[in-house]
Amino acid sequence: MLRRTPLRRSRPKPRFRPEDDKVTPELHDYILDRDKRCFAAKIEPGHECRDRFGHPHASDDRRRLTLDHVHDHATAAKRAKSDRFHLVAACGWANNEGWCSAHRNDERQYLREVEG
Ligand SMILES: [Zn+2]
Repeated sequence: MLRRTPLRRSRPKPRFRPEDDKVTPELHDYILDRDKRCFAAKIEPGHECRDRFGHPHASDDRRRLTLDHVHDHATAAKRAKSDRFHLVAACGWANNEGWCSAHRNDERQYLREVEG
């Protein structure tokens, strides 16, 4: 598929964000640059990426990949913080249909490896 949008978006206007759990465009780009592709595709041979509507797509399609929030502990009730230690790129299917929830320990291990 051909890219129709420029690789780098223009610098976003600085904006006050009352909530600190927002994923900024910079953070979004950072996670996609780091992970390159869907986490499920990384660790599970044969995984086929789909968006949240079930449409297949390439595992490195940045426009379709979503970010999964990973808690530090399985019991953490609050949404994980939006920073590079708590976000993993995954397709919408993996993120929304339970795959990511079932592989949190793999995600935590991965995040410790790449972010320390
Ligand atoms: Zn996937």
